[in-house]
Amino acid sequence: MKILECPACKQKVNLKLAAATKKVNGIFMLQCANCQQWSHENQKAAVVKNLGLLMLLGGSVMGYFQLGGIITGPMLAFIGGLIALATQLAIPRTLHTP
Ligand SMILES: [Zn+2]
Repeated sequence: MKILECPACKQKVNLKLAAATKKVNGIFMLQCANCQQWSHENQKAAVVKNLGLLMLLGGSVMGYFQLGGIITGPMLAFIGGLIALATQLAIPRTLHTP
């Protein structure tokens, strides 16, 4: 479940609530149904978040096969998940000005 916020009016925006979506230069944009503003994920936040998700995935696989013991994998996955969630929540979306 993604919690996204419109940077212009602080209204919740997500795939289901968005007025419209589009892709510009490979960047996924959502249009706020409330104020019609287009916004996208902060680029730096997206990189960090993907890194966290990668750790989450890698850690899960490691944990599943018990690579590096029973602690390392799950811990890596946990930390990765935290990083992904924290960037998602802490860094606001960027307004798209055409
Ligand atoms: Zn809005």
